[in-house]
Amino acid sequence: MTIRAYGAHAGNKPLEAMQITRRVPGAHDVQIDIAYCGVCHSDLHTVRAEWAGTLYPCVPGHEIVGRVSAVGAHVSGFRIGDLVGIGCIVDSCQHCEDCGAGLENYCDHMIGTYNSPTPDAPGHTLGGYSQRIVAHERYVLSIRHPEAQLAAVAPLLCAGITTYSPLRHWNAGPGKKIGVVGIGGLGHMGIKLAHAMGAHVVAFTTSESKREAAKVLGADEVVVSRDADAMAAHHKRFDLILNTVAMPHGLDAFLALLKRDGILALVGAPASPHPAPNVFNLITKRRSIAGSMIGGIPETQEMLDFCAARGIVADIELIRADQVNDAYERMLKGDVKYRFVIDNATLSPS
Ligand code: NAP
Ligand code: ZN
Repeated sequence: MTIRAYGAHAGNKPLEAMQITRRVPGAHDVQIDIAYCGVCHSDLHTVRAEWAGTLYPCVPGHEIVGRVSAVGAHVSGFRIGDLVGIGCIVDSCQHCEDCGAGLENYCDHMIGTYNSPTPDAPGHTLGGYSQRIVAHERYVLSIRHPEAQLAAVAPLLCAGITTYSPLRHWNAGPGKKIGVVGIGGLGHMGIKLAHAMGAHVVAFTTSESKREAAKVLGADEVVVSRDADAMAAHHKRFDLILNTVAMPHGLDAFLALLKRDGILALVGAPASPHPAPNVFNLITKRRSIAGSMIGGIPETQEMLDFCAARGIVADIELIRADQVNDAYERMLKGDVKYRFVIDNATLSPS
């Protein structure tokens, strides 16, 4: 079937309206009419070919929510009308150790929601800046928030799970001091989730203007990271610092804030490398630099249910599809509190 979408034909071209096709749902597939799709910084990195390997036309979007509009004959977990989501994963090998552990995000054959090879035209996956998507039911998530919150649930599908998974893996909770660097789409969810897990949360920002808002999100303390004295007051105090920044920057200032055995977990994925850290900032306190990528499907469902039970959603600014190019420029300036979400109804002619 042919549907409307918004995407780019080249890395140096703006996104524009286009038509794409979706496969007819197979026996195990769920077809979703997309209501809203969040705008992740990864969409911008990909559309603009900042990372290697962008395939065009590129239709980004992996924070997808909507309603089931058709199911294949063997689908058991979903019915027409269900509120559902799709995150960053639409397929994986289903046989490897990672898939067996519910960590499809680390499967060597993971198929991303956009920009991954697929037999469907045009030969690579196309994401959620579109009217519909079709995926195997294994990769479809149930949404248990009230429908009125649906647009603000969308960013949980990437920003939510990408911060929830490392917070859980490194045991964020009562008695732990957790830093979150960068108060953007990921960072604002990291603050909310670490706070909900009971940790003492310190937000690190380059934007003095976000200080008060970060406290409302759940930060116990806010540090402007350019202020060396304010940073020094936190030396050797942190169990875990989650770094969501999308640009290369020095890591030493954050490593120095970790306790013995502390972890600096990188989730931000800048197009070029961070400067190499000073080894003495690692060896003197047995500190680690680690990384984490989104989360597996079972953990994504766990995160959605955790958020539904506590009324946690993203703070969003709803936009029309034709505002997405401006939204990218504003995201680069840090001018969004804290996630743009596309109203996919605006893909239809008015
Ligand atoms: P975002 O909304 O643009 O937020 C990034 C934040 O980083 C900004 O709001 C800003 O916060 C801070 N920042 C920006 N430029 C900076 C600079 N030059 N120096 C210091 N801080 C700066 O982006 P996002 O959607 O949260 O994504 C963040 C990164 O994570 C991107 O690289 C994205 O591709 C990546 N990502 C990774 C995964 C994964 O699985 N690991 C998943 C999704 C996204 P302040 O104003 O508070 O400083
Ligand atoms: Zn994302």
